[in-house]
Amino acid sequence: MPIPNSFCPDLVGCLSQGAAGNPTVAMVEAAFKHHGINGRYINMEVPPANLADAVKGLRATGFRGFNLSMPHKVAVIPLLDGLGESAAVIGAVNCVVRRGDKLIGENTDGKGFLRSLTDITDPKGKTVVLFGAGGAARAVAVELGLAGVGRFILVNRTPERGQQLLDTLVGKLRCQAELVQWKGDFALPSGTDIVINGTSIGLYDAEARLPLDIATLQSGQIVADVVFSPPVTRLLRDAAARGCKTLDGLSMLVNQGVLGVQYWTGVLPDAAVMQRALAAAMGC
Ligand code: NDP
Repeated sequence: MPIPNSFCPDLVGCLSQGAAGNPTVAMVEAAFKHHGINGRYINMEVPPANLADAVKGLRATGFRGFNLSMPHKVAVIPLLDGLGESAAVIGAVNCVVRRGDKLIGENTDGKGFLRSLTDITDPKGKTVVLFGAGGAARAVAVELGLAGVGRFILVNRTPERGQQLLDTLVGKLRCQAELVQWKGDFALPSGTDIVINGTSIGLYDAEARLPLDIATLQSGQIVADVVFSPPVTRLLRDAAARGCKTLDGLSMLVNQGVLGVQYWTGVLPDAAVMQRALAAAMGC
């Protein structure tokens, strides 16, 4: 892919609202530099009414792919030529990849999480308690379902959203799963292997408390948080204090970036380089 002395880089980027606050550019361009890839990642501020024109423009200008962030992850689907397996089940796309003359939608949020998780355990056959049923939780659940998780206990405040995720896991992926409506502090059932906060509780608030009876956390369990800012949430601090292994949202974010770079360039980038660049950009 690198073209020596080319003044015409390979282009990727992100369409979103609130684009100026998206630090992904720092880690992707650090990977490009580290691996000698002549590429640029451009954050683009795009309101919903302009999404179709923006995608048409990226097609016309030969972008190799692009990320989608809020609020475009679902709306982009009819503008694409096809979907990857998990993106089709999740019903949301955060990463578009040009394959030949086609734009294919993938979802790397859940894949990024799975990649971080499999560094410390194989989720196959495990019992997972997942808090939340929004976009991030859905992406995580579908990838874990495809990876063979044995049993899901879904815990969500709004029953309708929880039910949609339950229907996906049971109906489409044939997983064993149950739904609990979240009221008060949730007590983890015995036999729980992996606990995941898939909600936005803790985002930008290091003291925000997940309604969970922390006395039911057991040493040796894996406790993960999708929240990446701050990287060490109150849940992860409580879990570490009780002897659990922890997994932060920053590593999920880095790994979804790793997958994006790999999809777009064919090069598996160095995750440590990307992690350092992201942490520096976020000041943590
Ligand atoms: P959504 O708005 O789609 O979903 C939010 C979820 O959080 C819902 O299940 C919602 O429950 C739940 N929730 C929010 N506040 C509360 C509360 N006070 N009590 C109980 N439940 C609550 O958001 P996303 O799924 O897109 O994002 C969730 C988090 O994931 C964000 O912090 C985001 O930054 C992070 N994220 C991290 C990524 C990474 O790479 N690390 C990638 C993508 C997202 P209800 O259904 O009842 O409203």
